[in-house]
Amino acid sequence: MTTFIVLLGPPGVGKGTQAKIFSERSGLAHISSGDLFRENIKNQTELGRLAQSYMTRGELVPDDVTIAMIRDRINRPDCAAGAILDGFPRTPAQADALEVMLQEFGGQVDVVPFISGSEEVLVERLSGRWTCRASGHIFNEKFNPPKQAGVCDFDGSELYQRDDDKAETVKRRIQVYLEQTSPLISYYRDHGKLIEIDGMQSIEQVTQALLVALKKH
Ligand code: AMP
Repeated sequence: MTTFIVLLGPPGVGKGTQAKIFSERSGLAHISSGDLFRENIKNQTELGRLAQSYMTRGELVPDDVTIAMIRDRINRPDCAAGAILDGFPRTPAQADALEVMLQEFGGQVDVVPFISGSEEVLVERLSGRWTCRASGHIFNEKFNPPKQAGVCDFDGSELYQRDDDKAETVKRRIQVYLEQTSPLISYYRDHGKLIEIDGMQSIEQVTQALLVALKKH
């Protein structure tokens, strides 16, 4: 038995935060496509160089390289029981590729929590977001501040503001989400897999709503 959960929702709604919490509680691997790209950028790989040219503009990295990267990640042993996918799929072509990939494991996408949020709040949250260098823990100077400014509560590493969290890029990322990713809402609804969660509540309330919904499913 495997469990694959796809977290869907606009940038800044809290997918990464919730994925980390849920991964720690459930033991399922957390796969963040954005974190994988940022790791490649840090390690100055060819994929990192390619991804960066899209990420700084708030555009999506092309499907073929993104799908290949996720395929490699899902094939690692820590995903044998399943995973929580955060930021992938982001296009219908990626969603189709994911189905095929998981069939190879005898698995499937089991459930798709869709965390929703209003545009003004997303822009505000992203512009106050601080991310940990070591492993991508996420804070917000207003809504979820670290105990000590600039330092990660979990591993003591430095917190930084992502280049693509600047207001102009955030607006483009939201537009790209609406154009290219939001069709996945009806795709997964039609497959009977979507559960809707209000992402404008506190982090704890969203976690609770997620846990209740996943238990029911
Ligand atoms: P995130 O950390 O999920 O906000 O992703 C940051 C950036 O990485 C996005 O704005 C895209 O440029 C790129 N990216 C992440 N996931 C994907 C994906 N599934 N498909 C294409 N590009 C992606």
